[in-house]
Amino acid sequence: MIKTKYLKKLIVEPGSEVNLKEFPTDWLDTPEGKVVGKDFLKERSEEVLEESRKLLAEAQELLYASDTHSVLIVLQAMDAAGKDGTIRHVMAGVNPQGCQVFSFKKPSAEELDHNFLWRYMKSLPERGRIGIFNRSYYEDVLVVKVHPEWLGPGSPADPSDKFWQQRYEDINNFEQHLARNGTLILKFFLHVSKDEQKRRFLERLTNPEKHWKFSDADLEEREHWKAYRNAFEDALSATSTKRAPWHIVPADRKYVSRAIVADIITTSIQGLGLKYPEVSEEKLIKLAEAKAKLEGVAEK
Ligand code: ATP
Ligand code: MG
Repeated sequence: MIKTKYLKKLIVEPGSEVNLKEFPTDWLDTPEGKVVGKDFLKERSEEVLEESRKLLAEAQELLYASDTHSVLIVLQAMDAAGKDGTIRHVMAGVNPQGCQVFSFKKPSAEELDHNFLWRYMKSLPERGRIGIFNRSYYEDVLVVKVHPEWLGPGSPADPSDKFWQQRYEDINNFEQHLARNGTLILKFFLHVSKDEQKRRFLERLTNPEKHWKFSDADLEEREHWKAYRNAFEDALSATSTKRAPWHIVPADRKYVSRAIVADIITTSIQGLGLKYPEVSEEKLIKLAEAKAKLEGVAEK
């Protein structure tokens, strides 16, 4: 487990105004990072990821058995920040039946004809399951804030501040509703620097095995870096709440972001204090009878 005092610094204090410059993209730039150094950081991150994976597999079983809560994990980031890799590495040990991943792309015409939360509501995890949103309803206050022309029919061409405030409010109410109904909500912004994004794009353009990951749109959106940053700062400030907090995870080193996300998910599920359901007296008698029968009867 990572020392909680470090992790606490990554949580967006509800009601605070986020300035992303104050959050590191590289853990090595932090005072703690400077003390421990790169080799130790890498080694420790890999250990934490390994430990957390095992504990997460156990926690998920308990989540399923107790059947009282679900877990919703929201991942948001600029392109190439490592959302896919994080999901792959963090969830590697979890029973696939207990976990579901939804990746949200540009909405279809049918989706645009509904309220903006509709398509996400349909994909929420049921009790006992972990649901991962690879992009989420936050796109509806991020990408479309940068490109209001993508908002769809019935939306204003030039949305006012009030329009966005109302969407933040809708999101907060939606999340509160989910939390009240037993959903643990964990939100992660993988915070990558512009330089690191460039490096990763260049890698995709250079390495033939990574060509498929590159899309022309990636460079177009990079041109809007500042507008995305503002939209993220606004959204993170407006929607970090006690029951659905945002974590701003330094993502320039993949091993660090994976370890942090894994640790937070695991400790948060453990923090629910779940228990295996108690077996009734009656059921225990039935189990004992079944055992005696099975042991006493010669198989044909
Ligand atoms: P990859 O790592 O494969 O690039 P990705 O999540 O970036 O994964 P893409 O297919 O490249 O997937 O991009 C999905 C696009 O859909 C993103 O540009 C995203 O902003 C956009 N998108 C998602 N939700 C919405 C939405 N509600 N309205 C408009 N665009 C959206
Ligand atoms: Mg993409």
